[in-house]
Amino acid sequence: MVVFLLITWSLANAFLPVQAPGQSSAAYTLVGAVTAGFFLAGLVAHELGHALLARSLGVRVRGITLWLFGGVASFESTPSSPGAEAAIAGIGPLVSVLIGGALLGVAALLPDSLPAFAILWLGWINLSLAAFNLIPAFPLDGGRILSALLWRWSGDRVRGTARAARVGRVLSGAMILLGVGELLLVPGLGGLWLIMLGWFLFTASRAEESSVTIRHALAGVRVRDVMSSPVVLAPDWITIHEFLENYTRPNTFTTFPLRNFDGKLSGMVRLHSLLAVPPDQRQALAVREVAQPLEAVPRATPDELLIDLLQRLAGPAEGRVIVMDGEQPIGIVTPADITRGLQVKRS
Ligand SMILES: [Zn+2]
Repeated sequence: MVVFLLITWSLANAFLPVQAPGQSSAAYTLVGAVTAGFFLAGLVAHELGHALLARSLGVRVRGITLWLFGGVASFESTPSSPGAEAAIAGIGPLVSVLIGGALLGVAALLPDSLPAFAILWLGWINLSLAAFNLIPAFPLDGGRILSALLWRWSGDRVRGTARAARVGRVLSGAMILLGVGELLLVPGLGGLWLIMLGWFLFTASRAEESSVTIRHALAGVRVRDVMSSPVVLAPDWITIHEFLENYTRPNTFTTFPLRNFDGKLSGMVRLHSLLAVPPDQRQALAVREVAQPLEAVPRATPDELLIDLLQRLAGPAEGRVIVMDGEQPIGIVTPADITRGLQVKRS
């Protein structure tokens, strides 16, 4: 929405009145808004290119997010070969180039008019989108293509990604310096944009590198290798007071799967949610009233690969997962379990 409004505003107040003067401000705003809509459609087409090709190459696609710097297609798994990685990264800019080229062709055929200038702008912006995304810095497409090339040359994905991430960091560092220089030497705040962009690319490169390192370290590790087991399956109908007295004293667990009166798994409760209830209310509240219901609790099988589970969880920070053997909860995976597994594997 912010991008849509910004683009509409800048087209209606700057670009269009300069190119095609003498129209009403309603006409500028209308054409500006329609053009901004098509700009976003172009972003979606770019990301759909990534997503659809990825899906056809067997990579699971979680979704597409549109945001301030464009769009991001996020994947639940990774391509199996450098060729697939390069193709998935390269198709987005290719889509943008095709759209941009076609629009410039159309604009060249039209007589000078408000819509013709809007189409011209759309054509150039799609070409710039392709060019910008080809900068070899993560998480831009160019960074992924570079990483695929380095992967192919070295035969090692982790090393390839690490090198590409380093290139990305140098480039983004240079962008930040340029931005600072621009702020100091050129009037106006244009440099801020470069600094923001550079900073964003810098952190994204680091995140990409550590995610690949973790993926490498966790290769072959299954959920059963790190889970805490056995679990204490606690009743969900007793009061919090009773629970704290009888279930938290004899052991050191901080997360408990719960069962209902029929003996079925009904949810999960964490010690800190129980302790957050003021002592004078603990006699009156049942455990299930502060528990996470079953639908909200992620579950895994013992043979699932840990890395798949992490990708499924998206944010592992609060993630506690119940490990199920059929209907029976047999373990729990917490962030601490994952950290410990990682340390053991690394050593
Ligand atoms: Zn892209």
